[in-house]
Amino acid sequence: IYILAIESSCDDTAAAVLQNDTLLSNIVATQEVHKKYGGVVPELASRAHQQNIVPVIHQAIAEANIDKKDLSAIAFTKGPGLMGSLLVGTSFAKSLAMGLDIPLIEVNHMQAHILAHFIDEENFDKPEFPFLALTISGGHTQIVKVTGHFEMEVIGQTIDDAVGEAFDKSAKILGLPYPGGPLIDKYAKLGNSKAFKFTKPKVGGLDFSFSGLKTAVLYFIQKEVKENPEFIKENLEDICASIQYTIVGILIDKLKKAVAQTGITQIAIGGGVSANSGIREALKAGENKFGWKTYVPKFEYTTDNAAMIGIVGYYKYLNKDFSDFSVTAQARYSL
Ligand code: ATP
Ligand code: FE
Repeated sequence: IYILAIESSCDDTAAAVLQNDTLLSNIVATQEVHKKYGGVVPELASRAHQQNIVPVIHQAIAEANIDKKDLSAIAFTKGPGLMGSLLVGTSFAKSLAMGLDIPLIEVNHMQAHILAHFIDEENFDKPEFPFLALTISGGHTQIVKVTGHFEMEVIGQTIDDAVGEAFDKSAKILGLPYPGGPLIDKYAKLGNSKAFKFTKPKVGGLDFSFSGLKTAVLYFIQKEVKENPEFIKENLEDICASIQYTIVGILIDKLKKAVAQTGITQIAIGGGVSANSGIREALKAGENKFGWKTYVPKFEYTTDNAAMIGIVGYYKYLNKDFSDFSVTAQARYSL
Protein backbone atom coordinates (compact mmCIF):
# COMPACT_ATOMS: atom_id res chain seq x y z
CA ILE A 1 0.00 0.00 0.00
CA TYR A 2 1.37 3.38 -1.00
CA ILE A 3 -0.07 6.47 0.72
CA LEU A 4 0.65 10.05 -0.31
CA ALA A 5 0.04 12.33 2.65
CA ILE A 6 -0.46 16.09 2.62
CA GLU A 7 -0.24 18.40 5.65
CA SER A 8 -1.01 22.13 5.48
CA SER A 9 -2.72 22.99 8.76
CA CYS A 10 -0.52 25.87 9.85
CA ASP A 11 2.67 27.32 8.38
CA ASP A 12 4.46 24.22 7.07
CA THR A 13 3.64 22.75 3.68
CA ALA A 14 4.45 19.05 3.90
CA ALA A 15 4.08 15.89 1.84
CA ALA A 16 5.21 12.33 2.47
CA VAL A 17 4.95 8.92 0.86
CA LEU A 18 4.62 5.76 2.94
CA GLN A 19 4.79 2.16 1.87
CA ASN A 20 2.64 0.50 4.53
CA ASP A 21 4.02 1.84 7.82
CA THR A 22 7.44 2.66 6.39
CA LEU A 23 8.40 6.12 5.29
CA LEU A 24 9.74 6.53 1.74
CA SER A 25 9.94 10.33 1.66
CA ASN A 26 9.15 13.22 3.98
CA ILE A 27 9.29 16.78 2.63
CA VAL A 28 8.60 19.94 4.62
CA ALA A 29 8.70 23.49 3.28
CA THR A 30 8.81 25.80 6.29
CA GLN A 31 7.43 29.25 5.64
CA GLU A 32 9.88 31.97 6.59
CA VAL A 33 7.59 34.96 5.86
CA HIS A 34 6.07 34.88 9.35
CA LYS A 35 9.32 35.44 11.24
CA LYS A 36 9.28 39.20 10.87
CA TYR A 37 5.71 39.41 12.19
CA GLY A 38 6.47 37.45 15.37
CA GLY A 39 3.77 34.88 14.66
CA VAL A 40 1.89 33.13 11.88
CA VAL A 41 -0.11 35.47 9.60
CA PRO A 42 -2.98 33.32 8.27
CA GLU A 43 -3.39 35.14 4.97
CA LEU A 44 0.31 34.82 4.16
CA ALA A 45 0.36 31.17 5.26
CA SER A 46 -2.42 30.28 2.86
CA ARG A 47 -0.68 32.04 0.00
CA ALA A 48 2.65 30.34 0.71
CA HIS A 49 0.91 26.93 0.79
CA GLN A 50 -0.45 27.69 -2.70
CA GLN A 51 3.08 28.34 -3.90
CA ASN A 52 4.71 25.39 -2.15
CA ILE A 53 2.23 22.57 -2.50
CA VAL A 54 2.98 21.47 -6.06
CA PRO A 55 6.79 21.38 -5.73
CA VAL A 56 6.57 19.72 -2.29
CA ILE A 57 4.31 16.94 -3.56
CA HIS A 58 6.44 16.46 -6.67
CA GLN A 59 9.53 16.11 -4.53
CA ALA A 60 7.85 13.66 -2.15
CA ILE A 61 6.83 11.39 -5.04
CA ALA A 62 10.21 11.72 -6.75
CA GLU A 63 12.18 10.90 -3.58
CA ALA A 64 9.93 7.93 -2.87
CA ASN A 65 10.96 6.71 -6.29
CA ILE A 66 7.46 5.68 -7.28
CA ASP A 67 5.03 6.71 -9.98
CA LYS A 68 1.81 8.61 -9.20
CA LYS A 69 -0.03 5.64 -10.64
CA ASP A 70 1.35 3.39 -7.87
CA LEU A 71 -0.45 5.39 -5.16
CA SER A 72 -3.20 3.54 -3.28
CA ALA A 73 -4.77 6.59 -1.58
CA ILE A 74 -4.30 10.25 -0.68
CA ALA A 75 -4.42 11.24 2.99
CA PHE A 76 -4.76 14.88 4.02
CA THR A 77 -5.21 17.01 7.12
CA LYS A 78 -8.87 17.98 7.50
CA GLY A 79 -8.25 19.92 10.73
CA PRO A 80 -7.75 21.39 13.25
CA GLY A 81 -5.80 24.38 11.98
CA LEU A 82 -6.06 27.62 10.05
CA MET A 83 -8.95 27.49 7.60
CA GLY A 84 -7.12 29.19 4.72
CA SER A 85 -4.17 26.84 5.14
CA LEU A 86 -6.25 23.68 5.49
CA LEU A 87 -8.25 24.53 2.36
CA VAL A 88 -5.14 24.44 0.17
CA GLY A 89 -4.20 20.89 1.20
CA THR A 90 -7.79 19.69 1.22
CA SER A 91 -8.58 20.97 -2.27
CA PHE A 92 -5.35 19.62 -3.66
CA ALA A 93 -5.86 16.19 -2.08
CA LYS A 94 -9.41 15.99 -3.43
CA SER A 95 -8.46 16.90 -6.98
CA LEU A 96 -5.50 14.55 -7.02
CA ALA A 97 -7.48 11.60 -5.63
CA MET A 98 -10.23 12.30 -8.12
CA GLY A 99 -7.77 12.57 -11.01
CA LEU A 100 -6.02 9.32 -10.07
CA ASP A 101 -9.32 7.66 -9.20
CA ILE A 102 -8.11 6.45 -5.80
CA PRO A 103 -9.57 6.79 -2.27
CA LEU A 104 -9.34 9.99 -0.26
CA ILE A 105 -8.64 9.79 3.47
CA GLU A 106 -9.27 12.65 5.93
CA VAL A 107 -6.96 12.87 8.94
CA ASN A 108 -7.25 14.66 12.27
CA HIS A 109 -3.96 16.47 12.88
CA MET A 110 -3.99 15.82 16.65
CA GLN A 111 -4.61 12.11 16.13
CA ALA A 112 -1.66 12.16 13.74
CA HIS A 113 0.63 13.73 16.36
CA ILE A 114 -0.17 10.68 18.51
CA LEU A 115 -0.02 7.96 15.86
CA ALA A 116 3.34 9.31 14.63
CA HIS A 117 4.78 6.80 17.13
CA PHE A 118 3.61 3.99 14.85
CA ILE A 119 5.79 4.93 11.88
CA ASP A 120 8.24 2.07 11.55
CA GLU A 121 11.66 3.26 12.67
CA GLU A 122 14.77 1.41 13.71
CA ASN A 123 15.63 2.12 17.36
CA PHE A 124 12.15 3.47 18.15
CA ASP A 125 9.66 1.22 19.96
CA LYS A 126 5.98 1.57 19.26
CA PRO A 127 3.86 2.13 22.37
CA GLU A 128 1.50 -0.66 23.40
CA PHE A 129 -2.15 -0.03 24.18
CA PRO A 130 -3.31 1.38 26.48
CA PHE A 131 -1.03 4.39 26.80
CA LEU A 132 -1.27 8.04 27.73
CA ALA A 133 -0.36 10.57 25.05
CA LEU A 134 0.83 13.99 26.09
CA THR A 135 0.41 16.21 23.05
CA ILE A 136 2.25 19.47 23.49
CA SER A 137 2.38 21.89 20.60
CA GLY A 138 1.90 25.46 19.48
CA GLY A 139 -1.87 25.13 19.47
CA HIS A 140 -2.62 22.27 21.88
CA THR A 141 -1.88 20.79 25.26
CA GLN A 142 -3.69 17.52 25.84
CA ILE A 143 -3.49 14.32 27.80
CA VAL A 144 -5.19 11.59 25.79
CA LYS A 145 -6.01 8.08 26.89
CA VAL A 146 -5.28 5.86 23.89
CA THR A 147 -6.74 2.36 23.90
CA GLY A 148 -6.54 1.65 20.16
CA HIS A 149 -5.38 3.30 16.94
CA PHE A 150 -8.70 5.08 16.70
CA GLU A 151 -9.86 4.89 20.29
CA MET A 152 -8.76 8.08 21.94
CA GLU A 153 -10.23 10.04 24.81
CA VAL A 154 -9.05 13.50 25.84
CA ILE A 155 -8.83 13.36 29.65
CA GLY A 156 -7.13 16.72 30.18
CA GLN A 157 -6.43 19.85 28.16
CA THR A 158 -5.56 23.50 28.45
CA ILE A 159 -8.30 25.92 29.37
CA ASP A 160 -6.41 28.87 27.81
CA ASP A 161 -2.95 29.04 26.14
CA ALA A 162 -1.13 26.00 24.76
CA VAL A 163 2.24 25.12 26.24
CA GLY A 164 4.00 26.16 23.01
CA GLU A 165 2.38 29.58 23.36
CA ALA A 166 3.64 29.79 26.93
CA PHE A 167 7.16 29.25 25.60
CA ASP A 168 6.75 31.62 22.64
CA LYS A 169 5.04 34.41 24.58
CA SER A 170 7.59 34.26 27.38
CA ALA A 171 10.34 34.39 24.78
CA LYS A 172 8.73 37.43 23.20
CA ILE A 173 8.72 39.22 26.56
CA LEU A 174 12.46 38.52 26.72
CA GLY A 175 12.89 40.04 23.27
CA LEU A 176 13.67 36.71 21.58
CA PRO A 177 12.50 36.11 17.99
CA TYR A 178 9.59 33.84 17.03
CA PRO A 179 9.29 30.93 17.59
CA GLY A 180 11.01 31.39 20.93
CA GLY A 181 10.47 27.90 22.37
CA PRO A 182 13.68 26.40 20.98
CA LEU A 183 15.65 29.47 22.15
CA ILE A 184 14.33 29.26 25.70
CA ASP A 185 15.41 25.61 25.62
CA LYS A 186 18.86 26.54 24.35
CA TYR A 187 19.53 29.18 27.04
CA ALA A 188 17.86 27.10 29.75
CA LYS A 189 20.54 24.45 29.35
CA LEU A 190 23.12 27.00 30.55
CA GLY A 191 21.13 28.50 33.42
CA ASN A 192 20.04 27.82 36.99
CA SER A 193 16.45 26.63 37.03
CA LYS A 194 15.95 27.63 40.66
CA ALA A 195 17.17 31.21 40.18
CA PHE A 196 13.67 32.69 39.91
CA LYS A 197 10.38 31.29 41.06
CA PHE A 198 7.11 31.47 39.14
CA THR A 199 3.98 30.16 40.79
CA LYS A 200 2.19 27.25 39.19
CA PRO A 201 -1.46 27.69 38.18
CA LYS A 202 -4.21 26.11 40.23
CA VAL A 203 -6.41 24.23 37.81
CA GLY A 204 -8.48 21.26 38.84
CA GLY A 205 -8.37 17.74 37.47
CA LEU A 206 -6.12 17.03 34.53
CA ASP A 207 -6.61 20.38 32.83
CA PHE A 208 -3.85 22.91 32.23
CA SER A 209 -3.62 26.69 32.29
CA PHE A 210 -0.70 28.69 30.95
CA SER A 211 -1.96 32.24 30.54
CA GLY A 212 -1.15 33.11 34.17
CA LEU A 213 2.49 32.14 33.73
CA LYS A 214 2.87 34.50 30.79
CA THR A 215 1.48 37.35 32.91
CA ALA A 216 3.71 36.42 35.83
CA VAL A 217 6.76 36.49 33.55
CA LEU A 218 5.68 39.85 32.12
CA TYR A 219 5.22 41.53 35.54
CA PHE A 220 8.42 40.03 36.87
CA ILE A 221 10.47 41.27 33.91
CA GLN A 222 8.87 44.74 33.93
CA LYS A 223 9.64 45.14 37.63
CA GLU A 224 13.25 43.98 37.33
CA VAL A 225 13.98 45.97 34.18
CA LYS A 226 12.75 49.14 35.91
CA GLU A 227 15.48 48.67 38.50
CA ASN A 228 18.14 47.39 36.11
CA PRO A 229 17.70 47.99 32.37
CA GLU A 230 20.30 45.27 31.71
CA PHE A 231 18.41 42.67 33.79
CA ILE A 232 17.38 40.45 30.87
CA LYS A 233 20.78 40.48 29.25
CA GLU A 234 22.57 39.72 32.50
CA ASN A 235 20.22 36.92 33.54
CA LEU A 236 18.88 35.47 30.29
CA GLU A 237 20.07 31.92 30.95
CA ASP A 238 18.71 31.81 34.50
CA ILE A 239 15.38 33.36 33.43
CA CYS A 240 14.97 30.82 30.62
CA ALA A 241 15.95 27.92 32.88
CA SER A 242 13.45 29.06 35.51
CA ILE A 243 10.61 29.45 33.00
CA GLN A 244 11.33 26.05 31.47
CA TYR A 245 11.55 24.43 34.91
CA THR A 246 8.12 25.84 35.79
CA ILE A 247 6.51 24.69 32.53
CA VAL A 248 8.00 21.21 32.73
CA GLY A 249 6.88 20.98 36.35
CA ILE A 250 3.31 21.80 35.37
CA LEU A 251 3.33 19.08 32.68
CA ILE A 252 4.89 16.42 34.92
CA ASP A 253 2.50 17.14 37.82
CA LYS A 254 -0.49 16.53 35.58
CA LEU A 255 1.06 13.42 34.07
CA LYS A 256 1.59 12.00 37.55
CA LYS A 257 -2.04 12.71 38.29
CA ALA A 258 -3.16 11.08 35.03
CA VAL A 259 -1.10 7.97 35.77
CA ALA A 260 -2.56 7.74 39.27
CA GLN A 261 -6.08 8.16 37.91
CA THR A 262 -5.85 5.68 35.03
CA GLY A 263 -3.24 3.22 36.26
CA ILE A 264 -1.55 3.54 32.86
CA THR A 265 2.22 3.97 33.09
CA GLN A 266 3.11 4.05 29.39
CA ILE A 267 3.50 7.64 28.21
CA ALA A 268 4.06 8.84 24.66
CA ILE A 269 4.74 12.49 23.92
CA GLY A 270 4.16 14.32 20.67
CA GLY A 271 3.90 17.79 19.14
CA GLY A 272 6.55 20.45 18.65
CA VAL A 273 7.25 21.05 22.33
CA SER A 274 8.32 17.42 22.77
CA ALA A 275 11.61 18.54 21.25
CA ASN A 276 12.23 20.34 24.55
CA SER A 277 15.23 18.97 26.45
CA GLY A 278 13.69 19.72 29.86
CA ILE A 279 10.58 17.65 29.23
CA ARG A 280 12.66 14.84 27.73
CA GLU A 281 14.90 14.70 30.80
CA ALA A 282 11.95 14.84 33.16
CA LEU A 283 10.25 11.95 31.36
CA LYS A 284 13.43 9.87 31.47
CA ALA A 285 13.71 10.60 35.19
CA GLY A 286 10.09 9.47 35.56
CA GLU A 287 11.09 6.03 34.27
CA ASN A 288 13.32 5.50 37.32
CA LYS A 289 11.31 7.49 39.83
CA PHE A 290 7.79 6.36 38.99
CA GLY A 291 8.28 3.24 36.87
CA TRP A 292 7.00 4.90 33.70
CA LYS A 293 7.82 3.68 30.22
CA THR A 294 8.13 6.73 28.00
CA TYR A 295 8.19 7.17 24.25
CA VAL A 296 9.68 10.18 22.54
CA PRO A 297 9.29 10.31 18.76
CA LYS A 298 12.03 10.96 16.25
CA PHE A 299 12.58 14.71 15.99
CA GLU A 300 11.16 15.00 12.45
CA TYR A 301 7.85 13.60 13.69
CA THR A 302 7.41 16.06 16.55
CA THR A 303 6.83 19.30 14.65
CA ASP A 304 4.34 19.43 11.81
CA ASN A 305 5.04 16.88 9.11
CA ALA A 306 3.14 14.76 6.61
CA ALA A 307 4.65 11.41 7.66
CA MET A 308 2.33 11.39 10.67
CA ILE A 309 -0.65 12.12 8.41
CA GLY A 310 0.46 9.20 6.24
CA ILE A 311 0.58 6.68 9.08
CA VAL A 312 -3.00 7.58 10.05
CA GLY A 313 -3.86 7.24 6.35
CA TYR A 314 -2.35 3.77 6.33
CA TYR A 315 -4.36 2.53 9.32
CA LYS A 316 -7.54 4.07 7.92
CA TYR A 317 -6.82 2.41 4.58
CA LEU A 318 -6.65 -0.97 6.33
CA ASN A 319 -10.07 -0.20 7.84
CA LYS A 320 -11.38 1.00 4.46
CA ASP A 321 -12.25 4.24 6.23
CA PHE A 322 -12.43 6.49 3.16
CA SER A 323 -13.83 10.00 2.81
CA ASP A 324 -16.51 11.24 0.52
CA PHE A 325 -15.38 13.78 -2.08
CA SER A 326 -17.72 16.32 -0.50
CA VAL A 327 -15.45 16.40 2.59
CA THR A 328 -14.33 19.90 3.66
CA ALA A 329 -11.64 21.37 5.89
CA GLN A 330 -12.57 21.98 9.52
CA ALA A 331 -10.70 24.58 11.60
CA ARG A 332 -12.01 23.26 14.93
CA TYR A 333 -11.94 19.51 14.94
CA SER A 334 -11.77 17.57 18.18
CA LEU A 335 -10.36 14.08 18.60
P1 ATP B 1 -0.78 22.31 16.54
O1 ATP B 1 -0.12 21.01 16.28
O2 ATP B 1 -1.41 22.35 17.88
O3 ATP B 1 -1.65 22.76 15.44
P2 ATP B 1 1.64 23.66 15.72
O4 ATP B 1 1.59 22.66 14.65
O5 ATP B 1 1.76 25.10 15.41
O6 ATP B 1 0.38 23.44 16.67
P3 ATP B 1 4.08 22.40 16.41
O7 ATP B 1 4.71 22.69 15.10
O8 ATP B 1 3.75 21.02 16.76
O9 ATP B 1 2.81 23.31 16.69
O10 ATP B 1 5.01 23.01 17.55
C1 ATP B 1 5.49 24.33 17.49
C2 ATP B 1 5.72 24.81 18.91
O11 ATP B 1 6.76 24.04 19.51
C3 ATP B 1 6.16 26.27 18.99
O12 ATP B 1 5.40 26.88 20.00
C4 ATP B 1 7.64 26.16 19.38
O13 ATP B 1 8.09 27.25 20.14
C5 ATP B 1 7.63 24.90 20.21
N1 ATP B 1 8.96 24.28 20.32
C6 ATP B 1 9.71 23.72 19.36
N2 ATP B 1 10.89 23.28 19.85
C7 ATP B 1 10.88 23.57 21.19
C8 ATP B 1 11.78 23.36 22.28
N3 ATP B 1 12.94 22.77 22.09
N4 ATP B 1 11.40 23.79 23.48
C9 ATP B 1 10.20 24.38 23.69
N5 ATP B 1 9.32 24.60 22.73
C10 ATP B 1 9.64 24.21 21.48
FE1 FE C 1 0.99 20.29 14.85
